[in-house]
Amino acid sequence: MHAGRMLGLKPVRIAESPPPLVSRAEWPVVVLLLCALGAFVWNGSSLLHIVASQQISGLDPSVQIAAAALVLNVALLLFGWRRYADLQQEAALRAEDRRRAALQEETDSITGLANRKGFAAGVETLCKTAIDAGHCLVIISLQMQRFKRINDRFGFDVGDATLRRIGEELRLHVPEGAVLARLSSDEFAIALPVHKDNLPSAERLAETLLRDVSRTYDIEGTYIQVGAISGIANAPAGTACRAADILRRADIALDHARSTRAARPTWFDAGMERALIERSELEQAIRVGIEHHQFLPYFEPQVDLRTGALTGFEVLARWQHPNRGLLSPELFIPVSEEIGLIGSLSESVIAQALDAARQWDGDFSLSINISPAQLSDLWLAQRLVRMITEHGFPANRLIVELTESSLFEDIDLARNLVVSLKNQGVRLALDDFGTGFSSLSHLRMLPLDMIKIDRSFMATVHVDRESIAIVRAVTTLAQALGIPVTAEGLEDAATYEKAATLGAKTGQGWYVGKPMTADAAADLLRRHRDAGDVKLRQAS
Ligand code: C2E
Ligand code: MG
Ligand code: MG
Repeated sequence: MHAGRMLGLKPVRIAESPPPLVSRAEWPVVVLLLCALGAFVWNGSSLLHIVASQQISGLDPSVQIAAAALVLNVALLLFGWRRYADLQQEAALRAEDRRRAALQEETDSITGLANRKGFAAGVETLCKTAIDAGHCLVIISLQMQRFKRINDRFGFDVGDATLRRIGEELRLHVPEGAVLARLSSDEFAIALPVHKDNLPSAERLAETLLRDVSRTYDIEGTYIQVGAISGIANAPAGTACRAADILRRADIALDHARSTRAARPTWFDAGMERALIERSELEQAIRVGIEHHQFLPYFEPQVDLRTGALTGFEVLARWQHPNRGLLSPELFIPVSEEIGLIGSLSESVIAQALDAARQWDGDFSLSINISPAQLSDLWLAQRLVRMITEHGFPANRLIVELTESSLFEDIDLARNLVVSLKNQGVRLALDDFGTGFSSLSHLRMLPLDMIKIDRSFMATVHVDRESIAIVRAVTTLAQALGIPVTAEGLEDAATYEKAATLGAKTGQGWYVGKPMTADAAADLLRRHRDAGDVKLRQAS
């Protein structure tokens, strides 16, 4: 193989049956020609016969007629031959047009490389030759990262020019006998036959390609920085070489490279495929779960740290899976966010929580979690307000928890939501404070009603001096801003005491009470009803 050799677009062979000797359009002309030829032979031979039997000087009129017929014959022959030649030329032109159109259909107009269709056809051909020669077929996928941003920022002309340059760069390195294509806006692929014992050479080629395309391109004075990821796959051992299978495997490897942010080419392995199948089963199960109301609200009690009296509950989603039992949000919240179902999942849980809370005595607050992915929903505030109105739940008893990371992602979206909710009297808490950017400007920018210190700080607050310093700094700052602090993750009496001493006003955690079902929460409230206020813990 000669890496580095310039490789143009491989004309993809189109399966064609051999052209017929005489096409349908040519038949009348051919028949005419044959008749003319027959008449010529007949006329010519009879003329010769007459001429031979008579003296040339005294040709009678019948001979003159025969001679005229012969001349006419010759004219007819010439005309027929000319017409036949024209038809042949026309057919050749049409065939060339068809070949060009087919090539265009299989060519990417920006880079001049094969497109997805051309790649599939080229790879099918390569598959056959590779197997005959005892090679296996390897596909290297390359995807440019964040290419959309280049188009958005510099325009499509610069984006197209960059793609052309990337295509040229790849052509320089792609070995002879390979098929190079641009499969989608920012994805390129190379298919090449590699000897079974020499698979590392394909990986080395992928490394070279990855290194050489990931660089800064000077596009008429605009400097464009391009990064890429790569996945590699070959045909599964002992199976037929099928282009679609190998490409799918290379794409799975590419996905893996993307999710692990791999800087090197990633080989496909069967585990990735299994994970993908599990993941798509999980996605499907979430869809079904939402439809069948399998996502339930659990209620984690929150108390006033000084008096130990219950102040409210945080609503936490749980999945009552028909086969796997009760599942934690860590399993389904990130997936629901990615597939765009977090909105319907959360709203189903919130609606059930409001339904349950409506039956309870007392004016306890209900805290709900809103994911960063939900903030882009411009109607979220309206829907939340409608839900509490429909359930007859007072707006001032609802607390919406937003994490710092969601604020950081889009402060304007967060502000819109917050303003709409605050106008209705809903309160706002900053969740997991300390785990994100802990930006003081966030504290000033939004009208917060509560800051929740993440449980990772509380876990070590009675042993680790740094955690103490952080919690104290947060409570001092919050006090100065007039915002009460809630401590999360109070697992034991020592942490509870420490949180109270360091200035947290309210707290929650297993020491106070684990998340419980709606029925268990109603039961808890019933048991304490006669005592006036519900005291779960008493700080000393
Ligand atoms: P979060 O809002 O910070 O919720 C507190 C998490 O800490 C809960 O985990 C809770 O069970 C756990 N926890 C509470 N006390 C203790 C303790 O003493 N020790 C320990 N080790 N853990 C404690 P959970 O229920 O697994 O929820 C995890 C996260 O999932 C939540 O963190 C929240 O961000 C998210 N989440 C839960 N339900 C929903 C939901 O309905 N919608 C959205 N968008 N996110 C949710
Ligand atoms: Mg929370
Ligand atoms: Mg939290």
